[in-house]
Amino acid sequence: MSEKNALKKFCRFNADGRTYNGVLRGSMVDIVEGDIFGTLSDMRMSYPANRVKFLPPITPTKIWCVGRNYAGHVRELGNDLPKEPLIFMKPLSTLAGSGDPVRIPDWAGRVDYEGELAVVIGRKCRKVTEFEALSYVKGYACFNDVTARDLQIDNHWTRAKGFDGFGPFGPAILLTDKMPDDARITTRLNGSVMQQDVFANMIFTVARIIAFISRFATLDAGDIIATGTPEGIGRVQPGDTVEIEIDGIGLLSNPFISD
Ligand code: MG
Repeated sequence: MSEKNALKKFCRFNADGRTYNGVLRGSMVDIVEGDIFGTLSDMRMSYPANRVKFLPPITPTKIWCVGRNYAGHVRELGNDLPKEPLIFMKPLSTLAGSGDPVRIPDWAGRVDYEGELAVVIGRKCRKVTEFEALSYVKGYACFNDVTARDLQIDNHWTRAKGFDGFGPFGPAILLTDKMPDDARITTRLNGSVMQQDVFANMIFTVARIIAFISRFATLDAGDIIATGTPEGIGRVQPGDTVEIEIDGIGLLSNPFISD
């Protein structure tokens, strides 16, 4: 795809003491006015991407998550395949941008990365069919559903997944209603590939997940749905860096530190 016709990648960032909306374009970030729910106007000013601090590209009102959505991951944790999407939530205080250090409390036990595709909802919706669901999608980003695995064992999912900063999100939202089935998600721990899969291997599609949630709850513009992690989860320790890369979206990178 040529740069001219490429899908836009919307981001928010800090530079020179100010906060901007931007469009990520290769190694540059162009400053724009407006947001993803309206129009984006190019302000003809850019920063090199490596000189800005990325923020979560939007602030949602809710962070939805899907558990056990790739068969390989279901097997690696010894669980049964779900018959319908397993839905849980993370508090907004988990949100972090690319580059933000993720704090691991010393009492949390084993803490894992979980590389995931996040859907960003574009319009409020309720009781939508699977057929129409993707028309409510604004775009997609990388998400790390960081999980205190030892604490999850007793079904304390909200605590295990709800620590401050346990939801790195970004670096940008690729503005499209559907990711290609053969797009890859890759998670690297200190540069080594730990997870790699394609979205065709999701048990429940994005459309199915949106239809499922919207039957019981209203999805609002800006809500995030993290769609589950593929096989290959693993422990992360202070000093490690986790990178989640999705074809067409970019790289979400976060160092982990002790707390
Ligand atoms: Mg997860």
